[in-house]
Amino acid sequence: MTIMISNQKEGIILTSASELFLGNVTKYEPIYSNEVPDSLVIRNGVIEAIGDSSRILAEYTRSDFEIIDCSKQTICPGFVDSHTHLVFAGDRSHELSLKIQGKTYSEISKGGGGISYTVNQTRAASKEELVALAMERLDEMLVHGTTTIEAKSGYGLNAEDEIKILEVINEVNEKHPIDVIPTFLGCHVTPEDFIGNQWEYIESMILLLPEIKRRNLAEYVDIWTDQGAFSIEESEYFLKEALDNDFKLRVHADEMENVGAALMAATIGATSADHLLKAEAISARSMADAGVVANLLPGTPFVLMSKKYANYNMFKDAEVTVALSSDFNPNCYLTNMQFVVALGCFMMKMLPEEALLAATYGGAKSLNREQQIGSLDLGMNADVLILDLPSVSSLPYQYAVNHTNMIIKDGKIVMKNKERIRE
Ligand SMILES: [Zn+2]
Repeated sequence: MTIMISNQKEGIILTSASELFLGNVTKYEPIYSNEVPDSLVIRNGVIEAIGDSSRILAEYTRSDFEIIDCSKQTICPGFVDSHTHLVFAGDRSHELSLKIQGKTYSEISKGGGGISYTVNQTRAASKEELVALAMERLDEMLVHGTTTIEAKSGYGLNAEDEIKILEVINEVNEKHPIDVIPTFLGCHVTPEDFIGNQWEYIESMILLLPEIKRRNLAEYVDIWTDQGAFSIEESEYFLKEALDNDFKLRVHADEMENVGAALMAATIGATSADHLLKAEAISARSMADAGVVANLLPGTPFVLMSKKYANYNMFKDAEVTVALSSDFNPNCYLTNMQFVVALGCFMMKMLPEEALLAATYGGAKSLNREQQIGSLDLGMNADVLILDLPSVSSLPYQYAVNHTNMIIKDGKIVMKNKERIRE
């Protein structure tokens, strides 16, 4: 005989946090002028109430809720990692020694490494293999506190394999607790067999747009606009085709050189311009006017052993919304957004609160989802982290350690006492 024990609670109440980082809230207002919120009520997957623990506990019937004491801990929104290249096959760890020994990117490529190595490995991999690899990486991201990511294609670089990667991205979105938002990056680089015929390659990627739209395989279209990648003229042509097919736009912009890609992103109405290491103030002002998010990826110069990071304060002064993302890819195997926050502080002089805001609200805005995720406001998705830290400033200060103690995704506990909970 099975005895049914119902311990189904209506929701979760988090109380007594040493710091509650709400992010960019517009709906919550303190009930008392001196109220310092340290408590959240989560029900039906969303945040129902915010406030002072004693007031919240007085208002709610305690037996109906799972009460979680967050003393000496910090509560913040789940990370929104809005720039990843999640799906690829092949390991490139051997290239690190070559980089340390001073080999340039083109020398590594000529030796059979670099992006063409990844493209060959990814083309050779089955969908099942790519799904398994992506699921492992998503697990790593989740336990470090990431609850939503953007994921790009771009290692297929032909019709069949670009579609295969987009199918993988959509499949793992269904299977994994992390929400995965797909981007078509067929114009990542020109594949070897099209070198010298760049326009022909662009046309072949344009031909895929209607199918991707019809099958709803991607929400965004992206292109790498830079020296050594696609020109402004090529990028504008491609992105206008993407707009005509009703896609939203992102741009890998001005990473190597200031070619005017960030300016173009503003003119064409992209949601996000990413990298921006070489972008200048005039571009930042245009981005602010057009509402383009500056998506900064400090993991990339870090692994390239470069001293040149994006100019955070230039974007801040121009009042551009800044996002921080991992740029997870075979050359930047970074699944931990807590470390990205630390890099933002140490390498780009972001204040801890600014870096955390960029890694949550900024990422959400860069994905047009700032009304649902990225902040802990009333009615928003309950994607919540409980960190074993007394304050937000401790997050970058105690860097390179995983501080997630509990993770709540869509109102469900997916990690508790540092243990992953699987359904
Ligand atoms: Zn990228």
